[in-house]
Amino acid sequence: MLTKKMTNEEFRKYGGEILTWIAEYFTNPERYRVLANVKPGEVRKRFPQSPPLEPESMDVVMKDFHSIIMPGLTQWNHPGFMAYFANSSSQPAILAELLAAAVNPNAMLWKTAPAAVELEEVVIDWIRQMIGLQEGFVGLMHDTASTSSLVALAAAREACGLNIREKGMTGRSDIPRLRLYMSEHAHSSIDKAALVLGLGEEGIRKIPANAEFQMKSEALVRAIEEDTQSGWKPCAVVATVGTTSTTSVDPVRDIAEIARRHGLWLHVDAAYAGNAAVLPEMRWLMDGCDAADSLVLNPHKWLFVPLDCSILLYRNPDAFRRAFSFVPEYLRSEEERNPMDYGIALGRRFRALKLWMVLRIYGVRLIREQLRSHIELAQKFRKWVEASENFEALAPSPFSVVCFRYNPFTKRGSSHQNSEELNRMNELLVERVNAGGEVFLSSTKVSGMVMIRLAVGNVFTKEVHVRKAWDLLRTHAAEQAFSIQPQTA
Ligand code: PLP
Repeated sequence: MLTKKMTNEEFRKYGGEILTWIAEYFTNPERYRVLANVKPGEVRKRFPQSPPLEPESMDVVMKDFHSIIMPGLTQWNHPGFMAYFANSSSQPAILAELLAAAVNPNAMLWKTAPAAVELEEVVIDWIRQMIGLQEGFVGLMHDTASTSSLVALAAAREACGLNIREKGMTGRSDIPRLRLYMSEHAHSSIDKAALVLGLGEEGIRKIPANAEFQMKSEALVRAIEEDTQSGWKPCAVVATVGTTSTTSVDPVRDIAEIARRHGLWLHVDAAYAGNAAVLPEMRWLMDGCDAADSLVLNPHKWLFVPLDCSILLYRNPDAFRRAFSFVPEYLRSEEERNPMDYGIALGRRFRALKLWMVLRIYGVRLIREQLRSHIELAQKFRKWVEASENFEALAPSPFSVVCFRYNPFTKRGSSHQNSEELNRMNELLVERVNAGGEVFLSSTKVSGMVMIRLAVGNVFTKEVHVRKAWDLLRTHAAEQAFSIQPQTA
């Protein structure tokens, strides 16, 4: 029935037109504003309230795509997108997504998609080698780092030896309460994992960080000892390699040693920065990671594949099997390597194909060149900030993110630093810079300070775009009459 409506002929015609449109879109992604200029609910109002009963023509549907949907999207492929962790889709990955959707294998069991399951193993091992992680780590692809970390911490909870799989946690007086440790700068996905796993907010212990936003390992030791003495069961520690706000790197080697001594599971969240370890000169960031029980890295953050693609690596697959394997009769199979046994999802799409395509088409060499150029651009921006009278860098920038703020006071010896006034100025400044639609920056608040973040990660971002952001920042700062003049870098 359905095949009559979009015939293969029509599919070829519209498919060709859409590919042509995508190619043109990539030729000039700047034709759109980077930040969508819409108010909440405005897009929704333009769609009918009830579903179409009768078939519509593709031409009409595509018209809506161009006139309603595209202007209603914030453009992550815009070279001026430098908010959060900027990232990119790429042409090879898009073609792979098309193929994956066409063939539509479900990689839940080996036999339901043998090549998808085995290609996933292959690309995960390629990534392992590319980031210099020792042999013995295997893994699985998930949609996001949030899922990967949840899965890892579920395995960690099971590895505590409290028979939670069999007996659950509620109403049990025979088990101690579990504690999860992370730095005060760890990502909120780790807090959420703790909530989902029944540890509760009280089961989360945030370890203070040093002036460079890295977890203090002595404080971790003290926390574990205190907790043990007062009857908690320390379960796992999460070290972050590239925190979300400032991209700081926790001392993984020290944390690994503490985890080993106290029998804790070590999960490393390297969702963004782990990708940088593809560069030999950045391998230092993996120091200590070989001792982790699990590590997450998101190719969708900085390896040029579109959402979603997260890789969870681990050393002991049996711990995951113990946490997740549950085989209903209809899915029984002889084969051992069935992905459904190692995570939450049963149905699993063919994510490996896009990463495989990207790795084959670009090779490690071009990927390295792209990552290097992003890091260099960010470092250049940082130098402009440092040389400026009125802006200051607020954190080290080991990767492609610079945290800074406008501060007309510090360098003039005034006492306004850290004041609410300064925070408001910087919030307003980002708002004004973003309102123009040419660049999109985000901000964060760390230790009471509002920081503006400039994150380079899109393949289209060149020096001219970073320069544009810098010019806009200085111009708007000056226009805000904060008693500064624009200056040349
Ligand atoms: N971990 C870190 C360090 C992150 O920065 C982020 C998101 O930016 C996440 C985890 C969550 O990633 P995802 O959106 O893939 O769940």
